[in-house]
Amino acid sequence: MGNKKMNISTFIGCDKSYEEASLVLFGVPFDGTTSFRPGTRFAMQAIRTDSYGLETYSPYLDRDLENIAVFDGGDLDLPFGNTEKVMDIIFEYSRDVLNDGKKFLMVGGEHLVSLSSIKAAYEKYPDLHLIHIDAHTDLREHYLGEKLSHASVIRNCHEFLGDGRIFQFGIRSGLKEEFEWAKEHTYLEKFSLDTFAEKMDELADVPVYITIDLDVLDPGVFPGTGTPEPGGISYRDLLGAIGHMQKLNQIVAADVVELSPPYDPSGASTAVACKTVREMLLTLGE
Ligand code: MN
Ligand code: MN
Repeated sequence: MGNKKMNISTFIGCDKSYEEASLVLFGVPFDGTTSFRPGTRFAMQAIRTDSYGLETYSPYLDRDLENIAVFDGGDLDLPFGNTEKVMDIIFEYSRDVLNDGKKFLMVGGEHLVSLSSIKAAYEKYPDLHLIHIDAHTDLREHYLGEKLSHASVIRNCHEFLGDGRIFQFGIRSGLKEEFEWAKEHTYLEKFSLDTFAEKMDELADVPVYITIDLDVLDPGVFPGTGTPEPGGISYRDLLGAIGHMQKLNQIVAADVVELSPPYDPSGASTAVACKTVREMLLTLGE
């Protein structure tokens, strides 16, 4: 007898078919513009494997993955070395999921991957607002001559979102010019998430995309990342912010990026990412 299911590993509790699912989880194993230490391409597979160390139930949100219909679409097939083609593939996949009336949680990969998924969400929801949690401003116009870079992802998003639509939290690294530019064009809270709850009240009834760069966490909590930045928030701070996200009535999609498993052989960073993915799936799911 034995097991009559196909031997395909999904994130824990995410075993529904695409047709049944209201929420799609997918991985983007791309780290092509990483400037310092690559390795985020391995994140989603590590997260899937290590998710079996978690429960499907969250005592924080009092919700269970068993009660929401999530399809794990695996990782996108990407041509390494061709950033523009990669961006197109992410855009098309994100757009198709949204047009099928579903939400998605994308797992990177480096932060540049969010540009395509946010653009797809914007095309479907022109009134889109962006919540950006990160150690870094990501507001450079160019990085080493490249416009398509993880260091410029939010600046690229501003080109279509415009002023007043971008809300940045936990930021503690960037050029002086980027912080000056932010004063004119985005809402930016330096170092912490103290104003997160009040901003969620303001955004309660507009379409929202949430992008979480896990390097917002202190490297003591989350060393497994390409560009660790000391002075970060605690995991309980991040859980608190996720709690406040429950005020949002129109989250259309989200992503979790920048886990690089090779830099934390203890596995603790991957555990942090797994738990964040679970909490975000439960936040998106209904
Ligand atoms: Mn980032
Ligand atoms: Mn970052």
